[in-house]
Amino acid sequence: MQIPGHIDPVTTGTVPLRGGNRVDLVGLTREGIRSALEEAGLDAKAAKLRSKQIWHWIYHRGVTEFDAMTDIAKAMRPWLTERFIVGRPTVVTAQVSTDGTRKWLLAAADGQEYEMVFIPDADRGTLCVSSQVGCTLNCRFCHTGTMRLVRNLSAGEIVGQVLLARDALGEWPKGTMASSADIDDEDDDAGHYTADGRMLTNIVMMGMGEPLYNFDEVKGALKIVMDGDGLALSKRRITLSTSGVVPMMARAGEEIGVNLAVSLHAVNKEIRDEIVPLNRKYGIEELLAACAAYPGANNARRITFEYVMLKDKNDSDADARELVRLIKQYKLPAKVNLIPFNPWPGAIYECSSPERVRAFSNIIFESGISAPIRTPRGRDIMAACGQLKSAATKPSRAELDRIAEEKQAALG
Ligand code: SAH
Ligand code: SF4
Repeated sequence: MQIPGHIDPVTTGTVPLRGGNRVDLVGLTREGIRSALEEAGLDAKAAKLRSKQIWHWIYHRGVTEFDAMTDIAKAMRPWLTERFIVGRPTVVTAQVSTDGTRKWLLAAADGQEYEMVFIPDADRGTLCVSSQVGCTLNCRFCHTGTMRLVRNLSAGEIVGQVLLARDALGEWPKGTMASSADIDDEDDDAGHYTADGRMLTNIVMMGMGEPLYNFDEVKGALKIVMDGDGLALSKRRITLSTSGVVPMMARAGEEIGVNLAVSLHAVNKEIRDEIVPLNRKYGIEELLAACAAYPGANNARRITFEYVMLKDKNDSDADARELVRLIKQYKLPAKVNLIPFNPWPGAIYECSSPERVRAFSNIIFESGISAPIRTPRGRDIMAACGQLKSAATKPSRAELDRIAEEKQAALG
């Protein structure tokens, strides 16, 4: 059935194999692009210059064809095209919620599927990025957790989500690139460079998967996203959410340096063991000690504690008071983000009542800790926190046939 106000999923069918034998430059470091060019036969000096130019075109201008890289000598462009690509994930479906949230089901070159979500707000636009296809961790309230881990996403596939979002939002600067050296006179692009007023302002690593179980690729992708000559997002606008992979948290702070969000969700061992099974490995005390030691956390850059509100499970006044006590005991520069539970087919929990969520929030607020209630976004297209799951969102062949028939009938 078509739901009024929705844009029907766009289905592009089978996934074309991208690149063939060519090397995808997306996700490589600058150094990686330079050495790929050298391996393909450029001398060191040329490789250095070209890699700098290519980097700028890929990440600052969003160009995917070497032919459009107008400051690279015309004769060299086919040579690059034969050997390299600037890839993008394939869009399998794209949906828009009645509240403006957008969700894309994407496919990697090997056909593996993952989702990304864009959440527009009055003062910002947040892209929720996936780090894995599936997840190993099986949190009991999370739809992704019902999938097994299929594989980690590569740095290219992670940064590719950001590039694709910029494509979809039409947010690449237009016009010439006067700062670049070696400008060919074929540059017929007469527009003006405009980089202001972007919609995509923030990134959260809160899509499918546990980012700290794919540390190297997530780090590589975020370094690219933060690079000043390119996407240039400030680390203050990027948040990484972990379910509590304690041994990787210090490294995340030191080597990536983005904001930290921790999926706490319960204040005692019994309940957290049940709903976040990773707690059996890294308990609450260990987790909070790692938070207290997180590099860069201070009162200006607080750690966000995510707390999913599950009816009669973790939502009592006593739970709220214990949460406050723990935050104070560990002297954490913290804010609490209360997430109303987002249902999905087969989930065994219910969301706490709005009154309960409000009462829980008030107790935390009264102790001087900020505890906003996250407004669920994109629930109607299963795009809200914890609702992502690639297989479930893909319409079956029978469903696609039915949709096509309905459309035919509507036209006829
Ligand atoms: N794996 C990481 C990041 C992805 S999940 C993590 O667990 O932190 C992003 C947030 O959504 C996490 O806080 C997660 O616990 C929460 N979440 C998962 N399922 C949910 C659901 N059904 N309703 C509300 N929040 C959910
Ligand atoms: Fe994995 Fe995070 Fe979902 Fe837990 S909440 S299953 S860690 S994606």
